[in-house]
Amino acid sequence: MAKKAAEAKIRPDKSKAVWSRAKAEERKAIMALGEEYKTFLDNCKTERLAVETIVGMAVKAGFKPMSARQKGRCYQVYQNKAVMLAAPGRAPLSQGFRLIGSHIDAPRLDLKMNPLYEDQGLAFLKTHYYGGIKKYQWLAIPLAIHGVICTREGKTVEIHLGEERGDPLFTICDLLPHLSRKSQEGKKLSEAFEAERMNLLLASLPLDEKGKQETGKEPVKKAVLAYLAENYGIEEDDLISAELEIVPAGLARDVGLDRSMVGAYAQDDRICAFAQLKAVLSALNPRHWCLAWFMDKEEVGSEGPTSANTRLLELWVASLMRAHGEKGDYLEVISGLSKSKAISADVGAAFDPDYPEVHDKRNAAFMGCGVGLTKYTGHGGKYSANDANAEYVAWMRGVWDRAGVPWQAAGMGRIDEGGGGTIAKFLAAYGMEVLDAGPVLLSMHSPFEISHKADLWATAEGYKAFFQA
Ligand code: MN
Ligand code: MN
Repeated sequence: MAKKAAEAKIRPDKSKAVWSRAKAEERKAIMALGEEYKTFLDNCKTERLAVETIVGMAVKAGFKPMSARQKGRCYQVYQNKAVMLAAPGRAPLSQGFRLIGSHIDAPRLDLKMNPLYEDQGLAFLKTHYYGGIKKYQWLAIPLAIHGVICTREGKTVEIHLGEERGDPLFTICDLLPHLSRKSQEGKKLSEAFEAERMNLLLASLPLDEKGKQETGKEPVKKAVLAYLAENYGIEEDDLISAELEIVPAGLARDVGLDRSMVGAYAQDDRICAFAQLKAVLSALNPRHWCLAWFMDKEEVGSEGPTSANTRLLELWVASLMRAHGEKGDYLEVISGLSKSKAISADVGAAFDPDYPEVHDKRNAAFMGCGVGLTKYTGHGGKYSANDANAEYVAWMRGVWDRAGVPWQAAGMGRIDEGGGGTIAKFLAAYGMEVLDAGPVLLSMHSPFEISHKADLWATAEGYKAFFQA
């Protein structure tokens, strides 16, 4: 009996579902935001495309490039893969500001430096996975190529293939079940799928576009190189200085008969990026400055010049201070940072009813039940965690409750199942208050992640309330 009662509680209380509590106009807003979000995802298949899309929307909303003289709403792009948006508040920056940081990189397959080869009359590209993927999920699905190739002469060539109707697609082949008994099924999952076998099927004809027959050694590879020279003006060595990303092809789609969910690649963490963008664009004359930082390289531990683990925030805050009549010296910058409040905007794992054993049902977050508030991240024993101060968590609860934002406490799963970190700890390095908040997803880190439209809406409302507080 007792067990049954406990089990019944796995299902969230109906009153917690955002949709059941939402008023008619809120339900309309939830669905409308879902439409806008799908378009955003379709335009943001890589971090570079995300930066372009975010800047495009910011410029439309009146944001200008950041400079020592530029007053008002402004943006700063960094190395084409990260961007900061800032909306002025009534109080000076030195009194502390509001910051939301999300990441616009996502798990994917990158190409190796020398990717192109031919084997048995087929041309392939060798890949190296980026971020935490389950390798088998990337086999035998339609894939697209996006990215840039930079030449010695300083030219940058963009490649986008596999999204438009009529474009060719690419794929990584998987073994047929008839022949995989020993090489896959008999092995542990971690050993059955090898990264070195994840080669992208690229071409099979030893012909160039004009029908000229290539001959000799590796004629298909030769034909590929002739195609690249003809269409993009690049040669094989240019692939060394390229960032070509292999991502799932196709558009974001509604999921479910009721269209309540969105299925798409890279919702971790572009769902937070979108919600954060909506929040900063709508921040008009708030009490405190509102900063929205869209970061790169979170999925590989926030390393590198476009990641959270840099001192760019100091640079940007100093420039904003100078442009707005503050000194912007070291003491003022560091003291402003320490007085600030931040949200590390990232997704969490939704309770998956098919795998209840990995969750602690009393601390799990559920689909459709609002923005998840995570006091601490990290793994077993709170290693690598940012553990937000009780006072700050209480402040956030108060802000959201007063604004009527639907939220839920979101734990990551059973303690020793695994875990993960976010950008929170890099912001905490300044002594600012920071906690993690964002929607929860099903099938996280897969090529087709699932979010709930009501959670997206609740997250955007939650970020807006934070900016206004
Ligand atoms: Mn994330
Ligand atoms: Mn992630």
